[in-house]
Amino acid sequence: MSIKSNIKELLAELSGSNAKLIAVSKTQPIEKIREAYAAGQRLFGENKAQEMIIKYQELAKDIDWHMIGHLQTNKVKYIAPFVSLIHSVDSEKLLEEIDKQGKKAGRLIPCLLQVHIALEETKFGFSSDEIVALLNAPALLNLKNIEIRGLMGMATFTENKETIREEFRLLKKLFDQLKEHKLPLNASMKELSMGMSSDYHIALEEGSTYVRIGTAIFGERNYSTH
Ligand SMILES: *Cc1c(COP(=O)(O)O)cnc(C)c1O
Repeated sequence: MSIKSNIKELLAELSGSNAKLIAVSKTQPIEKIREAYAAGQRLFGENKAQEMIIKYQELAKDIDWHMIGHLQTNKVKYIAPFVSLIHSVDSEKLLEEIDKQGKKAGRLIPCLLQVHIALEETKFGFSSDEIVALLNAPALLNLKNIEIRGLMGMATFTENKETIREEFRLLKKLFDQLKEHKLPLNASMKELSMGMSSDYHIALEEGSTYVRIGTAIFGERNYSTH
């Protein structure tokens, strides 16, 4: 299957939903991204700041670059001038740094708060309680160069579809509850980023608005060359 036909097929699957397709291009060479671009794809996801900058510089400027991986505070400055959405905000310290760098870059940086929904210990993210506390903290309003647009989560890496569904459902429930809350001016609940190649069908059924898909578009990643 070609990249173009993979994208076409995925878009057909998404057409009945509200969800947008992010082509996760981490580790993929420029030529493969160009192929996806030629097929009309404009949203791309990367998980490393350095790699994102290189690709941003090489490729067309109408691409929206999404940061989807754990972001170190000292790397924010590199992507602040151009990043479209940071899905992986997993600490208050990181949010403050994004605000600071947004101010320097003279822009408002859209962010999602990453929620720890998986049973696994290794995933980054806030707990539900921490999200509620963060959104209720008056200090959040001091961050004038960020805009919280919703939540992101990753399900447990498992074959058990019911576990995955349950985790996505919990995330959607939190999302819906927060939507009913009176949120601060710089926060809203519009976007719910959940679902990857192995579990996007379930994520779509549970209300995802962004699916982040790498392997099902580009094929297996070859980490050894990077
Ligand atoms: C790599 C990655 C993806 C895409 O994974 P695939 O299984 O290749 O679709 C999605 N989300 C995050 C956070 C990732 O790091």
